[in-house]
Amino acid sequence: MTQEAGSLAAADGPASSRDFVRQIVVDDGASGKHEGRVATRFPPEPNGYLHLGHAKSICLNFGISGEFGGVCHLRFDDTNPAKEEQEYVDAIQRDVRWLGFDWGGHLYYASDYFGQMLDYACHLIREGLAYVCDLTPDEMRAYRGTPTEPGRESPFRGRSVSENLDRFARMVAGEYEEGACTLRARIDMASPNLNMRDPAMYRIKRAHHHRTGDQYVVYPMYDYAHCVSDALERITHSICTLEFEDHRPLYDWFLEHLPVPAHPRQIEFARLNMTHVMMSKRKLLQLVQDGHVRGWDDPRMPTLSGIRRRGYSASAVRAFCESIGVSKANSLVHYEHLEHFVRQDLNANARRVMAVLDPVRVVIENYPQDQVEWFEAENNPENAADGTRMVPFGREIWLEREDFTENPPPKWFRLAPGREIRLKHAYYITCREVVKDATGAITELRCTYDPESRGGGTPDGRVVRGTSHWVSVAHGVSGEVRLYDHLFAKPHGLDDGEELADAINPDSLKVVEAVLEPAAAELAAGTCVQFLRQGYFCIDPDSGPDRPVYNRTVGLRDTWAKLSRA
Ligand code: ATP
Ligand code: MG
Repeated sequence: MTQEAGSLAAADGPASSRDFVRQIVVDDGASGKHEGRVATRFPPEPNGYLHLGHAKSICLNFGISGEFGGVCHLRFDDTNPAKEEQEYVDAIQRDVRWLGFDWGGHLYYASDYFGQMLDYACHLIREGLAYVCDLTPDEMRAYRGTPTEPGRESPFRGRSVSENLDRFARMVAGEYEEGACTLRARIDMASPNLNMRDPAMYRIKRAHHHRTGDQYVVYPMYDYAHCVSDALERITHSICTLEFEDHRPLYDWFLEHLPVPAHPRQIEFARLNMTHVMMSKRKLLQLVQDGHVRGWDDPRMPTLSGIRRRGYSASAVRAFCESIGVSKANSLVHYEHLEHFVRQDLNANARRVMAVLDPVRVVIENYPQDQVEWFEAENNPENAADGTRMVPFGREIWLEREDFTENPPPKWFRLAPGREIRLKHAYYITCREVVKDATGAITELRCTYDPESRGGGTPDGRVVRGTSHWVSVAHGVSGEVRLYDHLFAKPHGLDDGEELADAINPDSLKVVEAVLEPAAAELAAGTCVQFLRQGYFCIDPDSGPDRPVYNRTVGLRDTWAKLSRA
């Protein structure tokens, strides 16, 4: 997906399947606006890791530039030095690349334009369109008015151009204390849109910036910095989320009153909200800082680094983003909808192995003491090219505890006293005796096998309906398996006013000691497999040479189809 500046190519697909943003791009191309160019940007603030919401924005911006032969810039919106760090800059680039997108040479920082922004600010002062205001932040708020009452003009609004130029120069030179004054655009204190009531353009902030160091003590506000950055980069379509709709008049006001090289069009779309997920970087940071998760890449986090560690593939995330579409209506997407795409991808691509998560020992009394047999097992029934592997079998095996019961209910096809089941890839076994310890807990099942059933064939046509996975006791490798549930149990995440700590699901992580067939212990970190009958699991980087650690990626049951019909 490399990109070149190019002319507007025809959008593929019929107009009816186009979302409204793509329709605008097509219409602008047809009318010759922006000289037929398409340039979008993804503008993260480097104050946290990217999450699934950002993935929606990345797929939209890079998707459009790719489809229309345009470019998409990656621009760090680094205007708030107090919260921004190089670690985040690096992580964001890693995550955008992982998702499958490439900004080519178009990597920019809002801080690249700090000098130009100061010049433009002086331009507005000279035009009588900006002034230095000495109101305190509290006073400014009080003067601002409310949606139903107009604001009041600042007593400093009438300062002369020369006084404003002088004071602004002194602000920039560091002569004033933090909070002593701001530079404000001189627009309209009576505007029904609060964003137009002389918004602040610059504030004094004595903080070290991750790129410009201590060069500046004034930093531009988002509304000023963003439109200027877009214009300087000659962005054509500046796509943002709906909460900026009310800021659009201000975006346009700055660009109309500045000698900028282009006037991009701001387009707002509905942000991604998902059940059981907190999508705010501030809250995600809190989860990390307060130790509720192991880090930004904890597999329970909705961050791209978290879901990657969990085993979600980039193509599954892209397919999900495509399927949710783009619109102006806010909605809540079921988490199961994303899992559907994750599962679909893994079903096609993940190899099958056997692992027992809650083992109980089975001794096969009529199987020779030291005999070992190796059974050939298919790696992926969905893909014959994935070949086969050999699975060892012996007199003692581990069986899933929940695959046995002493008192079988109706329709129980798994193991029970006197009942027979099929061991996947191996033999039929029948349970003869249950061994318990002093507390009554089951420690061992004594079984017999039918040598005629080798490889799972039916010896005399008798029906055996249950099939269990298993692992040879002599060959099994023990490993840690991390079972995840939603970090927030309630679909809406937090109740109003609820503390983050109180809403966290105490059972979001359960660690179990499992036994795995040998082939499952030799895989590289990041590899995803299906544990037969258990779900999809991914090797965690915490794995040691002889000790695999697995994350449960997703279970086997797809509940989304049902939900989406409901
Ligand atoms: P957060 O609220 O999580 O802190 P943000 O909007 O402050 O997010 P930015 O780094 O400014 O984070 O976001 C970069 C881009 O990603 C913006 O264009 C923003 O609109 C978009 N974006 C952020 N969250 C979502 C979301 N949930 N759905 C779609 N786009 C999003
Ligand atoms: Mg933001």
